[in-house]
Amino acid sequence: MKPRVYIETFGCQMNVADTERAATGLRASGYDLCTSVDEADVVLLNTCSVREKAEQKVYTRIGELRAERPRAQDLVVGVMGCVAQLEGEAVFAQASSVNLVIGTRATDRISELIERARDGEKRVLDLGERGNNDSWDVSPVERHSPHVAFIPIIEGCNKFCSFCIVPYSRGRERSRPASEVVAEARRLQGLGYKEIHLIGQNVNSYRPRVQDGLEGFPGATPFCRLLRAVAATGLPRIKFTTSFPRDFHRDIVTAIEENTNLCDWVHLPVQSGSDRILKLMRRGHKRSDYLERIQRIKNSSRRLALTSDIIVGFPGETDEDFQQTVELVRECEYDSLYIFKYSKRSGTPAAEFHDNVPEAEKTARFLELEKVQRAAQKKIYSSYIGRKLSVLAEKQSSRSADDLSGHSTCHKVVNFRGDSALEGEIVEVMVTAAKTNSLYGTLVGR
Ligand code: SAM
Repeated sequence: MKPRVYIETFGCQMNVADTERAATGLRASGYDLCTSVDEADVVLLNTCSVREKAEQKVYTRIGELRAERPRAQDLVVGVMGCVAQLEGEAVFAQASSVNLVIGTRATDRISELIERARDGEKRVLDLGERGNNDSWDVSPVERHSPHVAFIPIIEGCNKFCSFCIVPYSRGRERSRPASEVVAEARRLQGLGYKEIHLIGQNVNSYRPRVQDGLEGFPGATPFCRLLRAVAATGLPRIKFTTSFPRDFHRDIVTAIEENTNLCDWVHLPVQSGSDRILKLMRRGHKRSDYLERIQRIKNSSRRLALTSDIIVGFPGETDEDFQQTVELVRECEYDSLYIFKYSKRSGTPAAEFHDNVPEAEKTARFLELEKVQRAAQKKIYSSYIGRKLSVLAEKQSSRSADDLSGHSTCHKVVNFRGDSALEGEIVEVMVTAAKTNSLYGTLVGR
């Protein structure tokens, strides 16, 4: 009998998508996937290394696993994803109970790697590249949701921002042919999916080697053409994340204006409002370039929700630099903002910079920026009260069994009283209350 595999996922949507892809491959090779550590013969942790805390979490979790299954001597424990790719052999040294280390491009070889570990090989390691015939297929049963699906369109990163580990953990950018992306969107549509997210570390840097699937779709960049090609499938909701500012062409907004199924939400991380820090971060854009793109988004004929990421306490960030970030956040009026304290990642250029911002100062800046964002967000969220939103009912709310939870086209979490029979439907909700990070409303139409 083939062993049962449990995959636990940490980190971003790319990791969620990799887990779905790995599970599809494993099941095709005859493995059973299970939903808890207790039932598993093999536990794989799909890991994130973007900040130090995320990486530490993995080792804590490995320790817990052995405690949860003290008598399972033959339990195979594997580390996959970004920590695996970066740490390689060192994972074995740090966590002696790990038998398998599976890099970010070895997803298609997991079943063979498991076989080797089950056959008694103590330390199985694969940090190799993808094979030419690697499959992007994801079976519907492995999708994280029956209503919302992620479609990776580009992997890796060529940007080499000085703080970021992603180019080292994920390799260079590789785009999938548009014909494959469109075919997957159509397949999902046929299966009843209402929403897809085109995903990638830098989704708008999409640059496939071949034009297949883009013929007849105009656009200033391959990504703009892809947006129009995917919109033409008629799939009800199409979102995309994450966009890189330097590659954010104004035609993206035009494509959104032309196609109502391209959703009214843009996630455009800025990281800092100071030109000096942006240069040290090697972002390849200035504050004014970013604000130009924001202006196009804000001037759109549709109101587009805008979200971003900021790093506070980057090495050398002065109070003046930080105040420029605060000012930029005020000016951009983000619908929501992910704020991170700078975390040193060894192997990145910034790890060599003198980190002169004390931890207490990083925390103080984090809290100050959070306060500014909260105030702006309160205003934006309150402005939705009395408005009708189109919401995809995704699941029962975790807060109340009588409520359903979903997202609006502008990617806000919306909760409302509703029966589980509505799950998977796009419904109309009248917003009655604004919470810190979500909206509450009443079902008014289907
Ligand atoms: N482009 C990727 C994406 O969004 O799909 C980036 C992923 S990363 C999870 C998201 C955010 O983490 C980045 O935009 C940045 O703000 C933050 N981040 C990356 N490296 C960091 C570091 N060394 N310290 C703190 N925050 C970091």
